[in-house]
Amino acid sequence: MLKAPGRARTDSTHVLAAIRSLNRLEFVIETLRAALNALAAAAPNWLSAHADPAWFDRYATRPEDYWLPSGKAKRTELSEQTGRDGMRLLADVHAAGAPVWLRELPAVQILRRAWVQQYVFDTEGEVRWRDPKECPPGALRLVSPYDTDARASVKRDIKWDGFKVHLTETCDADTSHLITNVLTQDATVQDSTATNLVHDALAARDLLPGEHLLDAGYIDGPRIVTADRQYGITLTGPIRGNTTAQASGPYSQSAFAIDWQSQTVTCPNGKNATQWRDKISDRGAPIIIVRFSPADCRTCPARPECVSSPRAARREITLRPRAEHEAIQQARAAQGTPEWRERYAARNGIEGTLSHAVHTAGLRRCRYRGLARTRLQHQLTATAINLARLDAHLTGTPLARTRTSHFARLRPADQTIDGAK
Ligand code: SF4
Repeated sequence: MLKAPGRARTDSTHVLAAIRSLNRLEFVIETLRAALNALAAAAPNWLSAHADPAWFDRYATRPEDYWLPSGKAKRTELSEQTGRDGMRLLADVHAAGAPVWLRELPAVQILRRAWVQQYVFDTEGEVRWRDPKECPPGALRLVSPYDTDARASVKRDIKWDGFKVHLTETCDADTSHLITNVLTQDATVQDSTATNLVHDALAARDLLPGEHLLDAGYIDGPRIVTADRQYGITLTGPIRGNTTAQASGPYSQSAFAIDWQSQTVTCPNGKNATQWRDKISDRGAPIIIVRFSPADCRTCPARPECVSSPRAARREITLRPRAEHEAIQQARAAQGTPEWRERYAARNGIEGTLSHAVHTAGLRRCRYRGLARTRLQHQLTATAINLARLDAHLTGTPLARTRTSHFARLRPADQTIDGAK
């Protein structure tokens, strides 16, 4: 049933960690509370001797935002009071006379990590709550003392704390569709990072497809080239459009003739670029900067259309390495054709699989805490779906058809989803 090399499709969805979502103030209070609870359970006599009596009022119950002060100044004051309390507890735990194992309690380690992320300690020993811009990036920042693998993320209008799961399944027309890979990562990891990881995992199990259908988040020039060269996979999906000021029109980049052999670029007015420089972009990707002569551009009648900034002395173009450039051009040319649309339409089925996993197996919510257990949960969910599909295949049970609303059924037969005739 796993025909090689068949077709596969991948998509992702967000997964909520098995924790309560906390704002920053709730987070620091809850983190200190969790450390106090852990110490109270592990070393009650030690904590009784070291706890400030005021802590029982401040940390005996879990923080709820509605009883915390609402003004910015008072919230900052409360956060810094919590910071000082946490610092005092950490100092006592790390004092020379304290049992060494106290500082090794996971809740105490988490308190220390959280305090480094949330507070600044100046040279006079004052504790200051970090400005949000001074906090570490989302990929490192803790969001709960009870699940240190969960991360906060945003995708379009969805905000969540937790993880992201990518499901890959076969999608050949003439056989059952089986899930061949499950990739669970923290919520901040971009879909584009998953593309190569999915291929590596499929290659390790000899399950690579010949064609992989993906949405725009997974595809770019480097990934098309890597998938083709390393694994012989054709990536099919929409390439993100050019968003520069000269994305279209008679002086768009595609109107410039490129001779890769001689490293020559000729503009629509017949002038040759005077610079061709290899560079590494701010994101670490190899790029080529091509510049035309200010003498040519200054006197050119097309300059207002060709050079985006009136202050710029000349036209400059940024190119990808040849293989990536050509892959992007080919993909952009193909994706407008009816044949491409028909091939790509098979990708939509993965959304049904994700929806099925969310509604029947609770894929959206972690049952357990931590990335390792969440990964295991997702592997078991995918296995359960595969078993159900195998059963349907072996017993000849027809697959449920995608439901179409009464109104959608009225669409004229010659009109496609995007309204084109
Ligand atoms: S502005 Fe420069 S690059 Fe653009 S068309 Fe004129 S000469 Fe060519």
